[in-house]
Amino acid sequence: MTKSNSSHISDIAHHLHPYTNAIRHESVGPIVMERGEGIYVYDDQGNRYIEGLAGLWSVGVGFGEKRLVEAARKQLDALPFYHTFAHKSNGPAIELAAKLAEITPEGLNHVFFTNSGSEGNDTVIKIVWYYNNALGRPKKKKFLARTGAYHGVTIASASLTGLPNNHRDFDLPAIPVHHLTCPHFYRYGQPGETEAQFCDRLIAELEEVIAREGADTIAAFIGEPIMSAGGVLPPPEGYWARVQEICRKNDILVVADEVITGFGRLGTAFGSDFYGIKPDLMTLSKQITSSYQPLAAVMISDEVYRVIAENSGKIGTFGHGYTASGHPVATAVGLENVKIIEERGLVANAAAMGKILHQRLAKFRDHPLVGEVRGAGLLAAVELVADKDSRAKFPEPGKVGGWFFNRAHSHGLIVRNIGDALAFCPPLIITEAQIDEMVKAFEITLDETATWVA
Ligand code: PLP
Repeated sequence: MTKSNSSHISDIAHHLHPYTNAIRHESVGPIVMERGEGIYVYDDQGNRYIEGLAGLWSVGVGFGEKRLVEAARKQLDALPFYHTFAHKSNGPAIELAAKLAEITPEGLNHVFFTNSGSEGNDTVIKIVWYYNNALGRPKKKKFLARTGAYHGVTIASASLTGLPNNHRDFDLPAIPVHHLTCPHFYRYGQPGETEAQFCDRLIAELEEVIAREGADTIAAFIGEPIMSAGGVLPPPEGYWARVQEICRKNDILVVADEVITGFGRLGTAFGSDFYGIKPDLMTLSKQITSSYQPLAAVMISDEVYRVIAENSGKIGTFGHGYTASGHPVATAVGLENVKIIEERGLVANAAAMGKILHQRLAKFRDHPLVGEVRGAGLLAAVELVADKDSRAKFPEPGKVGGWFFNRAHSHGLIVRNIGDALAFCPPLIITEAQIDEMVKAFEITLDETATWVA
């Protein structure tokens, strides 16, 4: 038995994988990745893949970035761990907090560090509840989220997530949350409705829910600037400005979940910059370290921070925190990663390469299997449909997308299938030639998929 075979058998025997059909895994086993370089990763059989999803929408600066390795090594040498509880701090956490306050939208000047995006959104929920209790508004606790949204998998953040598989058989949602209509015109627009009318309908729904439930019971609206894991779904024109206006009018906090859109993904520093959102709270993760270390950050406005601070002064503490909040190695890597993004102009590269990616993908609009091509910056999706004219889905949703996903591997391409939509989110460092290489592999796979479907 080769080393890799034995490790594959061991994986099947002992490793329960996230987001995996465990029964299927027992027969197919894992693809074991060994190393990465730039936009490419290599498995233990020697196969090379273009990482068209930057790992999990996250390896912004690409694989094998030695500066991040060195930043981690230096910090491990100097101080591998120290916590940030009870007035303790450390250099990298301090510097990264200041840097994030500088580069995120105006007014977000306070940072709470967590390990993951899910914990970040849990922290958002707790901050929002703590804030309203501090203001003497104990009834103002409900969240507004959207069907199709992805905000994480902890009990509270999964409750905000609006995807059936994150609730089913987990007894969720477990917190008071109302899921509004998914703002995706192609799927949720009604026959004969224009995109502007669709947007009007979403806004009317928001107003109606607030009127019905009472603004005094609704604490916050949370949204990804572009819903990503739900299928890469840009909202209709004008949506965010109107949502924001209604939230302000009703004293409802606006939370931008920028776990994917943060740090240049849409060709602007943050997704909030892209859509003109001025959030009260913002969740960041993934590209904050290019996933070289687990780290997330909740950005907090001056106004919300002041209330939290005053209340902690009154009751004696802000009783929340993780052992690894502000971990010095993770924050040192984060700091270096943000410097690399700045020094190499990766936000501008995402804007320029994003334009090229969308130009290249546009031709697939004429393909018989393609219903919609969508996205912004270096975030895109191509949705496959059974019937172009009626937009009908395939009888077994996800089967064709799943076939495409597996087939693409044999052409050296990793993209994510979200049902029957294929998502792209390549590293921010991608070049034009690499986009062409990625799109070529996509095209070959698409034509093979069309033959398989026929
Ligand atoms: N929020 C968004 C928008 C995400 O895309 C994700 C993960 O994909 C999360 C939150 C959860 O982050 P994590 O997987 O680090 O818990």
